[in-house]
Amino acid sequence: MAAILIDGKTIATEIKLEVKDLVSKLRSQGVHPCLAVILVGTDPASHAYVSAKRRMSQEVGIRLIQHNLLQGISEFELIRLIHSLNADSEVHGILVQLPLPAHIEEHNVIEAISPEKDVDGFHPCNVGCLVTGLDTLISCTPHAVSQLMTRSGISTSGKHTVIVGRSNIVGKPLMNLLVQKTVGGNSTVTVCHSGTKNIKNFTVQADILIVAIGKARLVSADMIKPGAVVIDVGINRVEENGKTRLIGDVDFDHARNVASMITPVPGGVGPMTVAMLMKNVVKAATWSIRT
Ligand code: NAD
Repeated sequence: MAAILIDGKTIATEIKLEVKDLVSKLRSQGVHPCLAVILVGTDPASHAYVSAKRRMSQEVGIRLIQHNLLQGISEFELIRLIHSLNADSEVHGILVQLPLPAHIEEHNVIEAISPEKDVDGFHPCNVGCLVTGLDTLISCTPHAVSQLMTRSGISTSGKHTVIVGRSNIVGKPLMNLLVQKTVGGNSTVTVCHSGTKNIKNFTVQADILIVAIGKARLVSADMIKPGAVVIDVGINRVEENGKTRLIGDVDFDHARNVASMITPVPGGVGPMTVAMLMKNVVKAATWSIRT
């Protein structure tokens, strides 16, 4: 039997409506949630991601201010802009679109953002809070994966979850979310990466398999335990039959005959990630009243 599709678009719409409601409540209290986005250079993919964030901000009533900086901007100038946004009480969230040009140290830029405005959840303070289980701004893609599962009725408690990929923006924060003793956590987590020998030995043991590597169709059907839940975070642009397509890290067409539930690409984790960003902006705006 073919796997049930986990519909990221529908769940993202549900979250958008919740955010919209929270935004109007905040606005009635005189707070208009505002996200400042810094975009360096002309990379088309980065521009496309920022456009998606702008569209969703408009839909939910969040004000988005975009700062377009030249590719050659110095780290000093970029950080100076971040400091001015940190000090601006009208700005609740700050997001620097990654990747940055090679002459800029990404970690210096991330660390310059006030943790309470770090809506990407990349600042070491927020990462530390996530590890220790404190309420924090959780990075959007791992949070999206977690919400996608919770809202699809997938229990992670007591399950063996295998994550393939150990990046700071997906694999590692996801591991920390899933091991917490909370609803949506309490899982036994194995993390595989480019240094893992014979990945299949691990993936076939997964009740829940989450893949975030950025290699088209690397995970084939024979690497999946029958009945497993498969979450594909990967986004790969490929040329097939003269057309450009977006596909995941999992061989979806075959995996769907083995898994019990699976996310499509596109339409799975992708739409959820931007929705979780909107949730973080609202959270940061709510904190701004509290503090
Ligand atoms: P990354 O390049 O930072 O990390 C990739 C990870 O995969 C690394 O930890 C590496 O060890 C591991 N890896 C690479 N090759 C491997 C192999 N052959 N076997 C096992 N592990 C291997 O990537 P990232 O930023 O974590 O993104 C991963 C994928 O997820 C990309 O396709 C990216 O586009 C996608 N992504 C999607 C969203 C979304 O919203 N859907 C958000 C972020 C990233």
